[in-house]
Order: sequence, then structure tokens, then C-alpha cells
Amino acid sequence: MELTLLGTGNAMVTRCYNTCFAFREGASHYLVDAGGGNGILRQLALAGIQAESMEGMFITHGHTDHILGAIWIVRKMAELMKKGARKNPFEIRCHAAAAEMLTCFCNMTLTPGLLQFMGNGIAITAIPPGAEFQALGMEVRAFDIRSTKAEQFGFSALLPGGKRFVCLGDEPYNPEADARAEGCDWLLSEAFCLYADRARFHPYEKHHSTALDAGRVAESLGAKNLVLYHTEDETLATRKARYAAEAKEAFSGRIFVPDDLETIVL
Ligand SMILES: [Zn+2]
Repeated sequence: MELTLLGTGNAMVTRCYNTCFAFREGASHYLVDAGGGNGILRQLALAGIQAESMEGMFITHGHTDHILGAIWIVRKMAELMKKGARKNPFEIRCHAAAAEMLTCFCNMTLTPGLLQFMGNGIAITAIPPGAEFQALGMEVRAFDIRSTKAEQFGFSALLPGGKRFVCLGDEPYNPEADARAEGCDWLLSEAFCLYADRARFHPYEKHHSTALDAGRVAESLGAKNLVLYHTEDETLATRKARYAAEAKEAFSGRIFVPDDLETIVL
């Protein structure tokens, strides 16, 4: 199983793409979030991921930088189905509020010729917290991250080889969330900026973490590998080294600070 980070930035970045990623197993992919727009199609093209190979999609929440790209995924799938180039159904799973939003956006922006595939090949499925489903041979379980801003899911996934992968979503880890992240093999955490740069980027005002905070959480959970993303884009040239060094002050496991389009073997 491989993970390709299609984007690694926060909502307002212009030098990289918004945070979203794809799992790959064999020739199939599974997408998580889609960033803020048409750029998702460019990121998929640059990563060499064909829309035909995508088994399905999960959306964590309804903020602009995660859900608006999903309109383009729906449009792409509908165009493939219209041409007869995709026979397999495509299912997008998310919480009820995000499902309502995406359905509304699609209904208001796509042509009738494409909308005929909504509910007829393309499914936008609302799932409750704790819902479990299969994707690429992973056993995935969605959990409510207990955000105060908007309803939001993280998820844990049991990989085919038995490793446990946990995506905390877009906010700091909340111990009251049923994340089941203790002892996980892979922990994906947002890190808005360095703790050292907190006066410059104001992460706490936006309810975000720093690399140091993410390292502390990963250490307390006993995670083995930590992936940091959803960052500012003003320090990209030094991000990999400096974020990893700061997280390392608190975390004894392996730390990954991927660039856009980087692939990690899970
Ligand atoms: Zn975000």
C-alpha cells in the first residue's frame, strides 16, 4: 500500500495544493479529500493517477479547501460514464452535512447530461460517526474528530498487511474523539506552522497545531510514524528539515514532512 500526497498545504496556500491524498494498492486508488478546486485534476495528472483507477472517495469535511475539488471529481467521473469509459460505480462517503453540500453544489453547477449519473453510477453517501467500510482492501472506520468549527470526520484504517493508519483530519487531536489512535503505525496530523513561528502564523487562533504540538501528540499516543501536512506555504524551501527537526524534539518515531506529489510506502 502506498500513499501519495496530492497536496500538503492549508486552505489559503498558493505555492502548493490544499491537503488531500490518495492510497494506491495494485492498480487501484482511493482518494481522501480533493482540495479546493480544479487543481485536483492537475495534481492527479502529475501523480499519474487515472480517474478510471479510482475506486472511491472519502471527504473529511465541508470546508472549501477539502470539498470544492470534489465537484471536479464528480464531473470527471460523470464525463467518463457518459463516454462509456467507466463502468464501475463511484461512491463518495462523508458525513451528512458534507453530503448535502456536495449534492447541492453538483446540482447547481453540472449540466443535466452529467447529473443523470448522480445516484446512477455516482453515489454521495452520508455515513454516521463510527461507520465502517472497505476500501482497497482496507477496513476503514470514520470517527467524529469533535471539532467546534464544523462537523468533521477523521478515520482509522486497518491496512491489508495489518498496520493501522489514522488520519486525524484538519484539527488538533481531541482525546474525546473515538480515534483509536493509540499505538497506531501511521498518524497523519495537521501542523499549521512551526511552534517557533507561532507569532508569525497564529496557528492557535485558527484552532491548528504546530509541528511540535503534533510531535507531542504522536509521542503520547505511541504512534510509530508521523506524517505532517496542512501547513503554511511561506517556508516550503526549509519545511521538510525544520518541521521534522521540531517534531523530533517531542517524538521518538519516524517523521515525514512530504512535499506535494510525494509517495510514502505504508
Ligand atoms: Zn483544511
